[in-house]
Amino acid sequence: MQPFDFKKVIEWLGQFLKCPVCGQKYNLDQTRIIDSRQSEAFGEATILIHSDCNKCKSSVMFNIEVKGPEVFSVGMVTDLTRHDSSRFKNRGPISVDEVINIHQSIKAFKGSLIKALSKK
Ligand SMILES: [Zn+2]
Repeated sequence: MQPFDFKKVIEWLGQFLKCPVCGQKYNLDQTRIIDSRQSEAFGEATILIHSDCNKCKSSVMFNIEVKGPEVFSVGMVTDLTRHDSSRFKNRGPISVDEVINIHQSIKAFKGSLIKALSKK
């Protein structure tokens, strides 16, 4: 089986993908592939894409599975930017200890949290 041409798949999907918030058709310039995997032996592929809506400015991540002639798509509204989605895609989930640590840090924090978080 030939490898998938993910760019073509995205172009094809661009005909169908609409913003789940406002219904606007996605502009392909605002759509990026974050991750892709394929199993040539079984004719299967999984693509994770991130799209920004030109109209309502919301961001959505789509997980698209191609299994032979069938295409499954699940969209999820996200506050992750395109840059964030690339950055976090290989990170594991947050642990209970991390949540407790941040809770305790915020509880003990004195001053402006917004100012502290704005520092780069
Ligand atoms: Zn929209």
